[in-house]
Order: sequence, then C-alpha cells, then structure tokens
Amino acid sequence: MASLPPLRDVIARHGLAASKALGQNFLLDEQLLDRVAAVPGDLDGEDVLEIGPGPGGLTRALLRAGGNVTAIERDRRCLPALAELSEAFPGQLKVIEGDALAMPLASVMPGPCHIASNLPYNVGTALFVGWLGGQAWPPQWKSLTLMFQREVADRIVATPDGDAYGRLAILSQWRCDARLAMKVHRSAFTPPPKVMSAIVHLTPATMPEGVSAARLESLTAAAFGQRRKMLRQSLKSLPGALAALEAEGIEASRRAETLSVDDFVRIARTMDAG
Ligand code: SAM
Repeated sequence: MASLPPLRDVIARHGLAASKALGQNFLLDEQLLDRVAAVPGDLDGEDVLEIGPGPGGLTRALLRAGGNVTAIERDRRCLPALAELSEAFPGQLKVIEGDALAMPLASVMPGPCHIASNLPYNVGTALFVGWLGGQAWPPQWKSLTLMFQREVADRIVATPDGDAYGRLAILSQWRCDARLAMKVHRSAFTPPPKVMSAIVHLTPATMPEGVSAARLESLTAAAFGQRRKMLRQSLKSLPGALAALEAEGIEASRRAETLSVDDFVRIARTMDAG
C-alpha cells in the first residue's frame, strides 16, 4: 500500500486531464479521501460500488478500508490507472467500463452492497433518484455515501419551511435516514469547481406501511410542481388528493413546503386506501 504513487503522478503519467463534459473534478488529498471512505462505517470485507473512480483516489481509500470494490467508469483513459490499482490490491477491485446510468444496480452487484461515489455532477441526481425509487424495500444498497454540489446536498437533508425543502427531501427522507456527513471546500478538487460540495450519507429506514412509492412520487411532483401555490391549487388535478387532505385534517390553503415528510406519507396512504 505504501508503494502507491501519488495521485498527481498517476494523472500525469496517464494523461488524465480533467474533462468538463464528464464532470471530472478529482480529489487528490489522501487524508480527505480516507475520511470520506470512513463515512459508511467499517467496510472490511463489504461489497462496495463506486461510480466514476477516475484516477482512483476514492477507490484507493475504499480498498485501504478493506472493501471489495466494483467501479464503473465511463472514461476509457482511466482504465490503465485503475488496472494498476487492481494489481496493488489483488482480488479486491473489479472495474466495469461504461455508463452507470445504463446499468441497474442488480446487474452489476450480486447482493447487498454499499455505494460510495464522488458523483459526476451531470448524472449524479439521476443516479441518486434511481437508487431511492422502486417499491422493494429495503433496497439492495446498505448505505449511500455520495458527494454532491452543496446545494443538492442541502436539498436532500432539508427540513420543512426552508428554501431547500422540496421533492428531493421527501424522496430522501420518507424511508431513509439522511444526514450531511461532511462539507468539502471547492479547493479540495482538481480542477476546483465553481461551487462548494458536501457528502451526504443515507441508510435505509423502515418503510411506512400502506404507501406506494409511485404514489408518493406523483404526490410530491404535483405538490412541489407549483411552488408557493396553495395545495388546493397544486393538487386539484390529482384524483383523490384534496379528499385525502381533508381526511387528514390538513388545510388546503397551506403550501407544500410547510408540510412535514410524515404529512406527505399520510396523504399518500389515504389516497392509496381510497
Ligand atoms: N472518483 C474520482 C475522484 O473522486 O477523484 C473522480 C470523480 S469525478 C467528479 C466523476 C467521475 O465519473 C469521472 O471519472 C468521470 O469520468 C466519471 N463519469 C462521468 N459520467 C459517468 C457515467 N455516466 N458513468 C460512469 N462514470 C461516469
């Protein structure tokens, strides 16, 4: 392990100039990377999926933590650097070349796994919403440890009434524990992005009974589709929604951003029962 070359050298030797189109902002500080890899807890012997390993900074840290890592990388230029890492950690790293968006989790990981990634900004939210969705619960993943732009991280952990509270908060929190684990300054990246970043950590919680994920998704889409409008207006075209509000004793004159996650769960449950 001590023999691993500095990441800067790996990048120089393999000509890995960062590509903006691929959302490449690399983390090179190994101490910081070890702290990120510690967020999910003990990874020794655990299966871990990493999206976008790039030159392999976070990958190294996950391997050092004892994880059995599967990494999906779209940029072919990174593959030789990752092959070297594979040699340094025999039997611990499998690299898949391709677009993570096109690979359902079950198609790349045989069983329960942790997901850890410094996500490419352009596809990060789409991947995240995909992992959160579906009716089956608990999901295949045991934890998500994900780097997002700070603004997106804030939306994931937001509480009612703040500007950041909306769909992403409801979808993240209705059956997960979600927390902001670490703030990361833009200067930690090469090249530095324009905005600050943060790591969020999610673990599956108990799914409320009698609520379908699809129902909750359509309800929150309608409720927050017209922000700052009263629910009476934003939910009027959703069959059964206004009756469910009344049944739950929630005033139709309220705005979506004032309702708790539990309020949305209760409305969805009443709609599903109706
Ligand atoms: N993990 C590295 C680090 O922390 O330094 C690189 C992170 S960089 C923000 C995002 C990485 O995701 C890049 O290596 C990029 O090539 C890769 N990537 C971008 N789009 C992808 C996709 N659709 N599927 C898989 N990897 C992708």
